[in-house]
Amino acid sequence: MEILKQRILKDGVVKEGNVLKVDRFLNHQMDVKLFNDIGEEFAKRFAGTGVNKILTIESSGIGIACIAAQHFNNCPVIFAKKTLSKNLDGEMFVTQVKSYTKGVTYDVMVSEKYLGKGDKVLIIDDFLANGCALMGLIDIVKQSGAELAGAGIVIEKGFQEGGK
Ligand code: 5GP
Repeated sequence: MEILKQRILKDGVVKEGNVLKVDRFLNHQMDVKLFNDIGEEFAKRFAGTGVNKILTIESSGIGIACIAAQHFNNCPVIFAKKTLSKNLDGEMFVTQVKSYTKGVTYDVMVSEKYLGKGDKVLIIDDFLANGCALMGLIDIVKQSGAELAGAGIVIEKGFQEGGK
């Protein structure tokens, strides 16, 4: 997606540890028009797959997932939570994810109420680095019995292992 490549070249800043900082348009300030163009692109790439739910992980995936959902018949967006709160009730699908940027491993969870057999799930996230976040989300889809339609990631760091 040329428009995204150009934006990364213009506004991206490479930090220590192979971290690309894109706070100007993706991870802090959000460019909604660009999100909408990316959502449209995801819809083209996953046309005909019957996606009826989008799954992401808090927090940076949420904005892009919500805008993308508008291109998938306004399907519901579920975000995997990183912290247990009093608002979470009932049974949960739980998996472990190692954070690329923070280096710690933590549980992420999705309520069993919102994902299950009959769902066709598109996973959306901001970055693909070593693939831990994506593998965790795939594990949650598997636990739920839903079908995985695919994964749409805004920026893949192709020099890391996640794509494999
Ligand atoms: P992975 O689990 O694939 O190793 O890393 C993906 C997650 O780590 C993404 O959800 C993203 O939040 C974060 N991440 C990985 N690499 C980068 C990076 O270069 N820049 C930013 N901003 N986040 C990253």
